[in-house]
Amino acid sequence: MKQKNKEYEKMNHCIRDISMKHPIKTSELDPTFFEEIKEEEPGTEKLLMCLNCKGCSSGCPVTGVEPAYNIKKLLRMTVLGMRDQVLNSKELWYCTTCYRCQERCPEGVETVGTILKLRSVAVKNGIMLPAHRKIAEYVMRTGHGVPINEKNRIKRKELGLGELPETVHTHPEALSEVRTLLKACEFDRLVGFKEFEGTGAKGLKTPSVT
Ligand code: SF4
Ligand code: SF4
Repeated sequence: MKQKNKEYEKMNHCIRDISMKHPIKTSELDPTFFEEIKEEEPGTEKLLMCLNCKGCSSGCPVTGVEPAYNIKKLLRMTVLGMRDQVLNSKELWYCTTCYRCQERCPEGVETVGTILKLRSVAVKNGIMLPAHRKIAEYVMRTGHGVPINEKNRIKRKELGLGELPETVHTHPEALSEVRTLLKACEFDRLVGFKEFEGTGAKGLKTPSVT
């Protein structure tokens, strides 16, 4: 857990927990926040129908291992306009998207869609966990979120498969296309990947697969 906390501290942005140690100040609420989420994610407006029944939070498997995580609270904070607290909360990244809360909700609130949208907005604002940034870096360097390793090469051979999957691993020339696409949609800028800066993505050296 200590190691985990150190990771969070290293982040550019201060990711916090959402425990309410202080009263909510209306002057600090941002009424445009929920409007923005609603606009970007149709269905999110159902959050206004929440009965506060706690059906979502009481059935969440994450809450069993991480009591600080409370989906209902996160959603309520979103409706209230607590932009800064929601987007910077580490709990925003705890949800496994198992959909149990959504299935239990008597009001049909789109809990998971809302969480995913909140995460997108957080990333657009440069807020993401170090592990996610690392995965993004792998995609840009190798064309894979999880590049193949020796162990999986051996497993594939044992299963009678080709040593490498039919991806950029066997078609390294396609990596430049992947990079061109990522660069075109500014994914590199979004995740703070510097290597593409000032270069034509096509001109980048194809890394060897290890
Ligand atoms: S989808 Fe997320 S918030 Fe909902 S029950 Fe599963 S882990 Fe909990
Ligand atoms: S289950 Fe639905 S209605 Fe009940 S608290 Fe959760 S979001 Fe609100």
